[in-house]
Amino acid sequence: MKISEMIYNSVSKYVNGSANINGHVGVTTALGCLRRAYFSATRGEPLFLPKINMILFLGRAVHESVESAVLDCYGDEHEIAVEVPIDDGLLKGVADMIIDDTIIEIKTVSTDLPRAVDKNHLMQLQAYLYMTGMDYGKVVYISRADGSIEEFDIKRSKESEKAYEYLRKRAEELLFHLSIGEPPPVERGKCFMCPFYYECFKRSQSQSLI
Ligand code: SF4
Repeated sequence: MKISEMIYNSVSKYVNGSANINGHVGVTTALGCLRRAYFSATRGEPLFLPKINMILFLGRAVHESVESAVLDCYGDEHEIAVEVPIDDGLLKGVADMIIDDTIIEIKTVSTDLPRAVDKNHLMQLQAYLYMTGMDYGKVVYISRADGSIEEFDIKRSKESEKAYEYLRKRAEELLFHLSIGEPPPVERGKCFMCPFYYECFKRSQSQSLI
């Protein structure tokens, strides 16, 4: 077997896997397409193409390495889980780390740094602030393209409760669809790199990844 094939096979094990929901809906799952979460939980995710696996794997590896390096030097707590009861289940969040009473969410990007916080990243952190009762957070972007870093301060506010409520409803909607065995509707706009694209839109698999 060629080494390249062995590498692709190895990393695919880390990247592919189905969401095991069992009444626990993650904040990031509730932010994403509920239909994808439903498919993933009920039938497992189809394998991505090898190069897509590699891109996802490298992104994750950089994220984990940065997190671990920062925690070694300054960290208080790592991967802090918080669970809040919802109808028939739990909404679960896992914040990257806490430093000086501030929740830190690290995002690595392959492009230039964003000028503002991404809407979903903001909602994720606002929900964590509400769920933990903490007052301060930061979304930190690291560019893999040029190594630069940008950080955005977020304070707990009314938006935190709104973010939590929005995600709670989405989590309950997902659990409802799982209970009746019917997939939620298509959510256009969340389909980038979704392995179920063919299923939703009946296009060829090569079109499903762009
Ligand atoms: S293709 Fe789009 S609508 Fe269909 S499951 Fe994936 S993200 Fe959701």
